[in-house]
Amino acid sequence: MKQNAARIVVANWKMYLSYNEAKDRIEKNADTLQELSDFVNCKTVICPSAESLAVIHSALQKTNLLLGAQTCSSFTSGAYTGQISARSLAEIGCSYCIIAHSEERARTHENDQLLQNKIEQAIANNLIPIFCIGETKEQFNAGSVHDILEHQLRPVLAALQKIEAGKTIYIAYEPVWAIGTGKIPQADYIQTVFERLDAFFVSLSAQYAIGFLYGGSVDEGNAGKFWKIALLRGLLIGKASTDFQTLKKIVLSSVE
Ligand code: PEP
Repeated sequence: MKQNAARIVVANWKMYLSYNEAKDRIEKNADTLQELSDFVNCKTVICPSAESLAVIHSALQKTNLLLGAQTCSSFTSGAYTGQISARSLAEIGCSYCIIAHSEERARTHENDQLLQNKIEQAIANNLIPIFCIGETKEQFNAGSVHDILEHQLRPVLAALQKIEAGKTIYIAYEPVWAIGTGKIPQADYIQTVFERLDAFFVSLSAQYAIGFLYGGSVDEGNAGKFWKIALLRGLLIGKASTDFQTLKKIVLSSVE
């Protein structure tokens, strides 16, 4: 990815807000949306839960903020009860899609083929995939982080074999032990992970725009230190992102 590419903050609202709460939150924060919209060096992507995508999309209409989904189906269309296709997500206004979040990995035990299909579905429908990887505390303690991450990246490699050059994909490094725990890795540790990821993708980086995000317990107090990590393109933020004032401070920290 070009070094002058804009930074990005992705707000993963998970299932924290009900439909009414999400609608209310976005309507009451119209001024903040406009301010976030003015930060041209840092894009903000809001990923509400599926039922709120349409209402959030209309609230974002007159802003530069973008909409993302928290997952998509690995299938194109058909008899798949409960699934949402990447095509529908694009039609409803999404431009990004989180794939393989550890909370979904743990719940659904998605295999490599299914994750590869999700990436391909996203790209085929012009959604930029945000593909999540990250080790558990046990794996961290065992010192096997890089092997685990490279293993988790197999669906990305397989998908990129089939995807036309020029597409963007974000890899979000989210240690499972850092998500929602208030514990964060040292900046130099994240830097080492990104350096390994950079080396891992070296043969593909001329063809694709591959950006690295960090996620896990980012808040307004610690966000500033992540932006100093050389290969960091952006942040994926859960709980803290549901508060617009906090989100604004995090986005602001990207330009300080
Ligand atoms: C996440 O789950 O993507 C995440 C980053 O969560 P939190 O910021 O709440 O740790």
